[in-house]
Amino acid sequence: MVLTEEERRERRRISRKKFRQTEKGKEKKRISNKKYLESKKGKEIRKYNTKKYKQTEKGKKLITKCSWKSRGLNMENFEEIYERYTMAIFCDICECVLEGNGRNRKCMDHDHDNGEFRNIVCSYCNIHICK
Ligand SMILES: [Zn+2]
Repeated sequence: MVLTEEERRERRRISRKKFRQTEKGKEKKRISNKKYLESKKGKEIRKYNTKKYKQTEKGKKLITKCSWKSRGLNMENFEEIYERYTMAIFCDICECVLEGNGRNRKCMDHDHDNGEFRNIVCSYCNIHICK
């Protein structure tokens, strides 16, 4: 007996349906669902870790490095500048305490023409004095 392509497809469909109703079929479905969920779970964990990584010293450093680089800072002495940046407590110009994200936010000031690092200053000085 020769089956047409359509008949063969129909038979496969029926046998798959039957298989899914057997214990073995159900078990297979459970496993594939579980695998799917686990793969999804893994992605969420990775995402969470990336977020967490950004809060670590290493992560913060990397973000700062990228941001300074994109702003055109000469990166030759990055390690040294970064060390100074993290240790800085006072603004190099007005000597206010560097803290928070407002007027006193810690900023890296550099020469926009040659990329040379100049000072660690507060946000106010960076906008109004350094330029
Ligand atoms: Zn200042």
